[in-house]
Amino acid sequence: MSKTVIVSNRLPVDLKFENEELIVKSSTGGLATGMKSVHSEGNGIWIGWSGLAKENLSEQQEEQVVEALAVEKCVQVPLSEKDIELYYYGFSNMALWPLFHYFQAYTEFELAQWESYVEVNQKFADVVLEHVNDGDTVWVHDYQLLLLPELLRKKNPNITIGFFLHIPYPSYELFRTCPWRNELLQGMLGADLVGFHTYDYARHFISSVSRIKDVEINFNEISFGNRIIKVDSFPMGIDYDKYHNAALDHDKYPEESKSELMKNLDFHNKSNEESKLILSIDRMDYTKGIPNRIKSFEYFLNKYPEYKGKVRLVMLAVPSRENVPQYQKLKRETDELVGRINGDLSTISWTPIWYFYRSLPFDDLIDLYVSSDVAMVTPIRDGMNLVAKEYVATRTKENGVLILSEMAGVAKEMHEALIVNPNNFDQTADSIKNALEMPQEEQKTRIQALQKRISRYNVERWAKEFLKSLEAAGKIVPVPV
Ligand code: UDP
Repeated sequence: MSKTVIVSNRLPVDLKFENEELIVKSSTGGLATGMKSVHSEGNGIWIGWSGLAKENLSEQQEEQVVEALAVEKCVQVPLSEKDIELYYYGFSNMALWPLFHYFQAYTEFELAQWESYVEVNQKFADVVLEHVNDGDTVWVHDYQLLLLPELLRKKNPNITIGFFLHIPYPSYELFRTCPWRNELLQGMLGADLVGFHTYDYARHFISSVSRIKDVEINFNEISFGNRIIKVDSFPMGIDYDKYHNAALDHDKYPEESKSELMKNLDFHNKSNEESKLILSIDRMDYTKGIPNRIKSFEYFLNKYPEYKGKVRLVMLAVPSRENVPQYQKLKRETDELVGRINGDLSTISWTPIWYFYRSLPFDDLIDLYVSSDVAMVTPIRDGMNLVAKEYVATRTKENGVLILSEMAGVAKEMHEALIVNPNNFDQTADSIKNALEMPQEEQKTRIQALQKRISRYNVERWAKEFLKSLEAAGKIVPVPV
């Protein structure tokens, strides 16, 4: 029986040794949830890095890891600290991540990092090839593994290979600046189906391919050598029921469900019953537009001073890639901005920005989503953005307003949000005012339309549609010329 093999940089489990004992925790992230049914079917497996550098494990610990992963139907690609430094923090996050998000000034092309990227993609290929048989399907995920489809195809042409990119794909003018653009495209073109979140990303990819490679393009099919590669968009969804049901539970027991954080906020809110909360949640990443969001909130308070004392921005920034210099710089900039604005504008009874640099457990996230009047999701550039969808899923009372950046992939599906250009502070300030003053009826109409769409196209459906399309793509037989 043929099987489906999922491949991503990280496995969907968290492993750590505590006093010689190996603790295994399943990941609850979006990808793991979406892949759950695919992964659990038949003898499907998931291949990726365990999160533990191989030189830090004794031989016995290594065996324990392999056994524990086997129970979870996972297989590891062992990586060293050096691999992680050069392939992951290096080429993936200092070249590809900024380049694909249009942060060209942050992009560093280092030969040693590129060489490690090639080497680690080959390590992934070796492990995958050990575990696949003719007729199997392999689904490769994301920008850390752009070379993998071709490496697999070269060695085994009898498998069906899908590739999905979870970040934006930039315009050709940006992509062409990469010294290894040819190799990257060659790698991706090893797949039978290449998927993106939006039609625009797919279009940019086809445009890059047509300028760099000797191919023929027919709408969304690329003829390359003796093969046809299909390109399409599959906007990733969320586990809608999980978020919606958690919010329903929260509605039933609102006091018991209150997080420490919200209790604190409520305590400070007693003096002003009318006070509104604006929520912002993201990883601390320069693509997320955190400084711009803070500045546009300040701009709003100065443009509409009647709101001073009546509205607070609750900003959760989750630590991320803290050893990459640009992320350290962003953290400093954010700390300083929040400090300055709170210093300038706070009163005894009001602090405009409540800033938390940490991650929160699921129940506390739900409490934040449920308790906010407005959510601001205003990245400078974002492949999709799941926070926007999660906020909408938790609006069980059909109220609340989403302010959304047009630069997020998710904006293509959420026309009923208040769409803004995050670099336009004036427009963003006006949208904050509109959101705070929006009549209940209008909030309801917008939220209902958004919920209808997001609940239908959930993460499971996303995975199914991709695999259905991949199966069809794997069967395309090129017409001989
Ligand atoms: N999230 C989390 N813990 C937190 C804050 C956020 O697990 O403390 C989750 C959030 O619920 C969402 C994900 O992190 O599912 C962020 O996904 P998104 O697509 O918005 O951005 P990414 O971080 O993937 O760029």
